[in-house]
Parts: sequence; structure tokens; C-alpha cells
Amino acid sequence: LLYNQVQDLKGSIRVYCRVRPFLPGQSDGQSTVDYIGENGNIMIVNPHKQGKDARRVFSFNKVFGTNVTQQQVFADTQPLIRSVLDGFNVCIFAYGQTGSGKTYTMSGPDLTTEETWGVNNRALIDLFQISKVRMDIIEYEVSVQMIEIYNEQVRDLLVLDGHSKRYPFVIYFLQITCYPPYYSLSQSTLEFSALRNQWNHLLQIKCTQDVLDLMRIGQRNRAIGATALNERSSRSHSVLTVHVQGKDLVAGSILRGCLHLVDLAGSERVDKSEATGERLKEAQHINKSLSALGDVISALARKSTHIPYRNSKLTQVLQDSLGGQAKTLMFVHMNPEVNSIGETVSTLKFAERVA
Ligand code: ADP
Ligand code: MG
Repeated sequence: LLYNQVQDLKGSIRVYCRVRPFLPGQSDGQSTVDYIGENGNIMIVNPHKQGKDARRVFSFNKVFGTNVTQQQVFADTQPLIRSVLDGFNVCIFAYGQTGSGKTYTMSGPDLTTEETWGVNNRALIDLFQISKVRMDIIEYEVSVQMIEIYNEQVRDLLVLDGHSKRYPFVIYFLQITCYPPYYSLSQSTLEFSALRNQWNHLLQIKCTQDVLDLMRIGQRNRAIGATALNERSSRSHSVLTVHVQGKDLVAGSILRGCLHLVDLAGSERVDKSEATGERLKEAQHINKSLSALGDVISALARKSTHIPYRNSKLTQVLQDSLGGQAKTLMFVHMNPEVNSIGETVSTLKFAERVA
């Protein structure tokens, strides 16, 4: 193993909790975080309750407080990410209610400031750079896909015009496993636009600039959906997949690893009495897929013989990368506001169930 520094074999599922700071203009008088202890403990205080019912401790692999930087979060994630170069499949999820910091962790607040880049950019650039280090022994190819799952339908985000059709899932899935030909972003625009007609894009990264170009295309395509459907991004899952294929130049063998970086739909429960029509349908799809994900991960954690992958598109898409030798990391996000206490507690309970 060249790059795998993940020594702990305690289990292939780990959970990190991240607390976002109060935002400018928000009252920071009262926080629902009582304290963050050593060893991944966090104590939550519910100001609406009295006595011993008011406090509860949750335990995770790590807890990141409000002062933890993007760089520090990435540093604790990097060994897992690098294990992809050794042929492991890795899934990293961002879970939490809308506004709790999922996109901040995965993408960062904006692409122009390197300091605030999230896990996605850092992971891609790290994998790309490190894959160049031992080119004399192993020749790597790094390529990327980006999809969105909305109302159980899959949409390709790596298209130039933002009007990609939704494709039948089966075709999608086959494309992922059978490795279509690689395309380079540095090809001419003309050639590149011809790719719109492909079922699915798997774009090879040739330099770090390609990473940023890809992210920009993906974010723009997500944003286009968002204006049309009013903040749709918080009600869809986005999945950035990095395929790494390494050819051992001495032995001639091929090794493949895959990293999925998933910004999940907001986990908040929608009041059934208020939601109707599209909104209710969206909420039902989200509930279904998030609980399907929870069921899969907890079945894996329990080492159950039956893993219920087929209950949602999300778990089907990720099936090959959940379980077996694969490694999973869940970032659970919370905001410290008092009026979010209900969602915070259910988020942390969800996380406890999969840990
Ligand atoms: P979500 O994707 O869960 O809906 P966002 O990532 O969009 O939430 O975060 C909501 C707001 O909080 C954004 O303005 C974001 O920039 C800010 N934010 C989230 N996490 C942090 C953090 N760790 N530090 C500073 N600002 C943050
Ligand atoms: Mg978001």
C-alpha cells in the first residue's frame, strides 16, 4: 500500500460532527452546544427542558467546533481520501438540516478563495497531485463525474449548457461500471460540446485547473436548477465521484478506486399539514432516500447479512462503494441556534444510529 495511512481497523464507518458558527446578524447569545469534550463527545443542551432531561451527550469519532478551519477538516479526512489510490472505495457524506453547513464543508462558500475551499476541491487536487508522485511505478488516471438526484431521478451536472436530460437509472449505472472512454476538458469546445449527447460524462483531469473548471460547470448547472425550482439544491443530493485507475507499470496490473463526495438533501422534516403538491412529493422522496441511506449504513455497521440497497436511487448508485472493503465517512452538521434544537437532536440521533 503506497498511500493508505488509515491504520485504525475499528470499522469502516466513521462519523464526524461539525458545528457551524453563528452567522453575522444571528443572535449568538445562547447556543445549544454545552461543551465539546475530548474523544468526540458533544453535550447538547435543550433550553426548553429542565433538569437532567435538558442535557444529552452524543459520541462520534470526532467533533469539529465552530473555530475549526476547512484546512483542519480536510487534514482529518485526507488519509481516507488517499486510500482511494490503493484501490479502496470511499464514500463521504454531508448530512444535516438546510443551513447547517453541508455545502460549506463539501464545496466551501465560494471557489475563488482557496483558503475556504471545501473537501471536494481539496480532495480532487490532492488525489491528482499525489497520483503524479510515483509515476515511475504506477500510472494513474483521475476522472470525475457529477450527478444530482432529485425526486429519485438522476441528472448529469457536467454538461455545458445546463439542459441535460434525466436519464434512466440503469443506463447510468452501467456507464459507471463499464468505464466509457475518457474525455479531457482541454479538448476544444467543439469536441466537448459533442459530449452533451453522451449518456454520462467521465471527464479526465489533466491539471489542477481542470478541477476548478469542472467544479464551476457543476455548480453552475446546480444553480440553474435552483433558480428554476426555488432552492432546489437543498432538496436534491449531489454526488461528485472521482474515479482513480492505477496501472502498475512493473506488474502490469490495474487497480481501481472510487471516491464519492455526497452533499445530501436537507434532513429537516417537513410539516405534513403545510406541504402540498411538489413540496410534499420532494419531502417524501428526501425522507425515503435519507432513511434508506441510514438503513444501509446501520445494516453495514451491524454486519447484517441483508443490506437494503434497493430502497432508493442514492443507495443504488453508491452500492459498490458502501460495504465490503469500502470506507464510509459521515459528516453530520448542526447549527447552534436554539430554534433548531429539534432538528439538531434528530440529526445527532440519526448519526448515532449509523455510528
Ligand atoms: P447547507 O448546505 O447545509 O444548507 P450551507 O453550507 O449553505 O448549509 O451553510 C449555511 C450558511 O452558513 C452559509 O452562509 C455558509 O457560508 C455558512 N457556514 C456554514 N458552515 C460554516 C462554517 N463552518 N464557518 C463559517 N460559515 C459557515
Ligand atoms: Mg447546501
